[in-house]
Amino acid sequence: MLIRAGACLLLAGFVFAQTNPSAKQTSATNPSANPPAKALGFRNFAAQTSLDQKFLQVPDPTLAGQELKTLTAVPHIAGSKEDYATAKYVAQKFREAGLETKIVPYRVMMNFPKKIQVTAYDANGKQIMSGPTPEHVSDDPYQDDKRIVTAFNGYSASGDVTAEVVYANYGRPQDFAELAAKHIDVRGKIVIVRYGANFRGVKAYLAQQRGAAGVIIYSDPADDGYFRGDKYPQGPYRPATGVQRGSIQYLFKYPGDPTTPGFASTPDLPASKRIPLKDATNQPTIPSTPLSYHDAAPILKALGGSESPRAWQGALPFTYHTGPGPVKVHMVLQQDYALHTIWDVIGKIPGTQYPDDWVIVGNHRDAWVYGAVDPNSGTAAMLEAVHGVGTLLQQGWKPQRTVVFSSWDAEEEGLIGSTEWAEQHTAQMAHAVAYFNVDVGVSGPNFGAEAVPSLKPFLVSITKLVPSPQGGTVYDAWLSSQKQAAAKHPNLDEHAGQAQRSSPLVDGIQMGDLGSGSDYTPFIQHLGVPSTDIGSSGPYGVYHSTFDDYTWFTKFADPTFVYLQQQARVLGLEALHMADADVLPYDYAVYGEEVVGYLETAQKKATKAGMSNLNFDAALAAAQRFHEAGARALVAEQNPNGQLAGQNTILRKVEEDLLSQRGLPNRPWFKHTVYAPGEYTGYAAVVIPGVNEAIDAKDAARADSQLEVLTRALDRAATTLNQMP
Ligand SMILES: [Zn+2]
Repeated sequence: MLIRAGACLLLAGFVFAQTNPSAKQTSATNPSANPPAKALGFRNFAAQTSLDQKFLQVPDPTLAGQELKTLTAVPHIAGSKEDYATAKYVAQKFREAGLETKIVPYRVMMNFPKKIQVTAYDANGKQIMSGPTPEHVSDDPYQDDKRIVTAFNGYSASGDVTAEVVYANYGRPQDFAELAAKHIDVRGKIVIVRYGANFRGVKAYLAQQRGAAGVIIYSDPADDGYFRGDKYPQGPYRPATGVQRGSIQYLFKYPGDPTTPGFASTPDLPASKRIPLKDATNQPTIPSTPLSYHDAAPILKALGGSESPRAWQGALPFTYHTGPGPVKVHMVLQQDYALHTIWDVIGKIPGTQYPDDWVIVGNHRDAWVYGAVDPNSGTAAMLEAVHGVGTLLQQGWKPQRTVVFSSWDAEEEGLIGSTEWAEQHTAQMAHAVAYFNVDVGVSGPNFGAEAVPSLKPFLVSITKLVPSPQGGTVYDAWLSSQKQAAAKHPNLDEHAGQAQRSSPLVDGIQMGDLGSGSDYTPFIQHLGVPSTDIGSSGPYGVYHSTFDDYTWFTKFADPTFVYLQQQARVLGLEALHMADADVLPYDYAVYGEEVVGYLETAQKKATKAGMSNLNFDAALAAAQRFHEAGARALVAEQNPNGQLAGQNTILRKVEEDLLSQRGLPNRPWFKHTVYAPGEYTGYAAVVIPGVNEAIDAKDAARADSQLEVLTRALDRAATTLNQMP
């Protein structure tokens, strides 16, 4: 899961706010004391408001804290018996709340480390490092559990490689280009890169494309260690032996079980239906492993060759060089690939009016080790949302649409539990009206969200109804933290380093676009289900390490669990409002406006790239028509009339219209014409990806045909919207 950037500044002040025990009580009732009279899609919002008030009273910080402690008591990596125990625990909670609950198994191809050995030698052949060094700090009650898995990369190949080392900074396309410009060839070398800037799978993807024999990915203290602030246990940042585990699957090609691309790994799937692992195109065939900066430092320090570019200099106490060599590394990685059973937990509340229209809430449950922040802070928030919804059920409430709470497994390895389930339920997903994701629920006080544009106003309206532990509403706190961040980093967008203009503000809020790195990907980018993703961030240096545990969480993230309560309330209201809105509260006017912006930015980039003859007229006109049709539909949505079912069918179909069944070039699993993770970012969204990636590749013919694909999709969407009665 990706960590949202730029929150650290604001944190200091808020820690104190959190420990104010009365925070829970005073703000519990405030905002919904004067709710808005109207809301998009509701004929009688007052009725919804009274339901909201009943719900908001239920999620309890103390209970959330207890659920978090239970979920993170022992390491629970996907496929382990401890993981199954957490599945049973979540299922029990779902049943207690009155949800029709099932534990749904899948049989999936995954690797576990059998042997991980990294040794380094200096120019004279003297051994200067042997690892991985076990993760250890002066004081943490969880660190010595024998069930903690050795740090490894999910979907790395096995290998026994000895080679000179080359340092390639973050392992981005521009970093490898810089090495090539210096005539530094990585063929047959072991490439060492630092975490950050892009998805770790892209680092392995680019290194393999350039002929590297192996990859080492380490955490530089400049990015999430002592250069950012006190390291754990004194502070929230990564200690010297802390390692970031993580998958290097090419999820930007397709996520999920590598041997079942596009179809579900159900337990009864005949082996003959699977593709051989060696033919899977979504993972590297070279060995890759992560290291702490404790283990990486001797390797980096022994590198010779030219000084690395200034921007490549990290925070370790020596000047970084690029190599190659003279230091050599011997990597021995033995990966145990096998089919393993994983378990999703699905809890359903059948709808009364539109039982086929599913509102899906999801969070993954599996962790690399304890997963206190990632993902079980999200799990605790979801369980308290379920607690609240369960209380409404007991009071006789029944949703109009079916509500589905989903606890995914094996997200860390490759979004597997969510992808297999979504692929198994492809038919139903055409009627799923929304997918609400929470992964890293809480790592600090700064609320943040990403969403498909049609749901951005919806989500902002929800945050205006939920109290913030900082006083006022979540919306107020969100707005002020964004303003503070903007004041600190005026040109934040340029930092993204992508030629994208920032999205239009929604009530002053800048909300990101859905890239990848969490379980919304199969829903929005493969099946076209409108989706959102929420989080609350702060300084968090222990991501995917042993130290992402209950002790770290209660010290640095949320000591009184009031942010877990906040997230439960936001998530719960998302589900309740989408389940009971008379008309589906999508805003396609905002959507069209954003797409016009994306095309204008792409046109400028094309001109800059010398592709000024690329014709954007048709696509721009189609996007404008989509925007106008969206604005007309909004009028109907604001005044729900008798033809609700018809209107809702039309409104839901629009997102599906934006899919292209042929999918993106070189990665057909990704069907959405407007959103996908970048092939070379892996996490960050590349908008109108077919067009933008063709321009990046300077492929005018591909750009032209992708503009046509997009134009047809936008026209389908506008035509559908113009049928609104
Ligand atoms: Zn996660």
